[in-house]
Amino acid sequence: MAQRRIVTVEDGDPVLRRPARPVSRVDAAIRQLMDDMVATMRSAPGVGLAAPQIGVPQRVIVVEVPVESGDGQPAEDGQTRLWTLANPEIVWRSEELEEGQEACLSVPELYGDVPRSVAIRVRALHRNGRRETFEARGFEARVLQHEIDHLDGILFVDRVTSLDKLYRIEEQAPGQYVRVPLGVACVG
Ligand code: ZN
Repeated sequence: MAQRRIVTVEDGDPVLRRPARPVSRVDAAIRQLMDDMVATMRSAPGVGLAAPQIGVPQRVIVVEVPVESGDGQPAEDGQTRLWTLANPEIVWRSEELEEGQEACLSVPELYGDVPRSVAIRVRALHRNGRRETFEARGFEARVLQHEIDHLDGILFVDRVTSLDKLYRIEEQAPGQYVRVPLGVACVG
């Protein structure tokens, strides 16, 4: 597995803004791409990565999130679930939305409160080439929606409902973090 360089908005590369191409077949090259993406995501570290973020315009994403126990909290043993998916499609999404904090490896230092469906159903090809449909909820559903958006050139900043939902986080005193809205950060 090789780590790849992550493209950010500061690079001005249109790959982040263009729809990515479907994968025709999960072959050795696609599996290699998936493995490199997992290595890159883990070292970043991040909870998800889409192929355009490493400059590859193909519909491939990887997601690794904590397994949740029944109450929606991360399981105590720190277990994670890894998805390596080609051509992921959201075939159903809940009407119920929830706003939650997001960041992106391609949008350095920016955070946003983004509304997402609380539950989704995804159809995709797995690393082993099998097609499967599965459901996801909560944080896992949020990360999957964020990564699948990347395949259509959409960034989380496009999804915020107003500018005051975009902010930086600064450490004012050791261990004390405050939100600095973009509007304030831009003054002067
Ligand atoms: Zn992202």
